[in-house]
Amino acid sequence: MDQFDRDPRLIFIHADMDAFFAAVEILDDPSLAGKPLIIGHPGPRGVVSTASYEARKYRVHSALPSVEAMRRCPMGIWRSPRGERYQQVSRQVMKVFEQFTPEVEPLSLDEAFLGIEGSLRLFGGAVTIARQLRQQVYQCTGGLTISVGVAPNKFLAKLASDLDKPDGLTVVDPDRIQQLLDPLPVEKIWGVGPRTRDALHHIGLREIRHLRQAGVDLLVRHLGESSGQHLWQLAHGEDHRSISTERDSRSISRESTFEVDLLRGPSTESFLRIAAEQVARSLREEKLRARTVRLKVRTGSFRTMSRSLTLQVPTQEPLPLFETARSLLAEVELNGEGIRLLGLGTGNLIRQSSPLQPGLFDDQTSERRQQVVSRLLDESRQIEGGAGLERGKMLSPPPEDPSTG
Ligand SMILES: [Mg+2]
Repeated sequence: MDQFDRDPRLIFIHADMDAFFAAVEILDDPSLAGKPLIIGHPGPRGVVSTASYEARKYRVHSALPSVEAMRRCPMGIWRSPRGERYQQVSRQVMKVFEQFTPEVEPLSLDEAFLGIEGSLRLFGGAVTIARQLRQQVYQCTGGLTISVGVAPNKFLAKLASDLDKPDGLTVVDPDRIQQLLDPLPVEKIWGVGPRTRDALHHIGLREIRHLRQAGVDLLVRHLGESSGQHLWQLAHGEDHRSISTERDSRSISRESTFEVDLLRGPSTESFLRIAAEQVARSLREEKLRARTVRLKVRTGSFRTMSRSLTLQVPTQEPLPLFETARSLLAEVELNGEGIRLLGLGTGNLIRQSSPLQPGLFDDQTSERRQQVVSRLLDESRQIEGGAGLERGKMLSPPPEDPSTG
């Protein structure tokens, strides 16, 4: 497993507590250990929330009607869920995740995706991070176990964390993805529930290899355009989704991975111009101004660097965003490498209505002129079939004031 620690393609972790609610109950009452424990309300309309692994041997699982669970496992020990206690433990666990990366996307109380690309160097590698994370969770909670999947994308990480439960650590070999996926049943794919599974079985597709062999057209015909395409990609182990954190919603950004690595120059500039326009438009729509401009750069060898700069005057206009990002990019040491990913982000957002300190504008006229153009552009976009105006040269410094360039 250690040979994977240096693999820069392993940039996602999915971490999932084992039988979480049941495990917390056992932690608080060790006499329950080793018993078929069922969390839920045993009444006629109740459903099982979580079952311990001993209860799962009797085919008791989450969402099973309690009546059926009692039939399958008459000796089961029932406990009512204690939501507040689970939340408390959940906060401990999420804090552990955040020690390893700021990119944490919780899916529920007991599982989360972690984007670890930016942490690889600091901690030594993806497998090391996974090992330490498991250890830390165990220590911080006083004995709870967690299963972890390490993979090149979110879908594969989630799939992997489930392969060796409980208390497992599974690394997806980036060079053997298809071999891993092919023999698995279709319902192992994240998002394939009982209905999709039955629909796929109905047309003879039971294993992931069958989806691949069936071809994208067949999947689209039976599942619709977007689901068919999506499933086709997942069957090939492809998933381009990134981590979405709460933090992200409080910042506004655009980033792109390029098909071929770009050289710093006209093409990166034109990307930054477009990104600045889009980010500025989002800021105006949200009635926010950004105090900080961030630039994210990833090179062909997956080296990721971030640079940021705090503006003297918070802005919602593209020109200051573009110019700041361009100057940040000029400082990045590429060591001869091409640029694989480029992102322009903003942070330190403040409400548009917050008073700007008077006298801080370097050039009030030009800022005001930009605002007028921006408003016109925003309005033209709201007219259906409208002109769809573009800013054109306004992104360049105004000609009568060449000193700002
Ligand atoms: Mg879980």
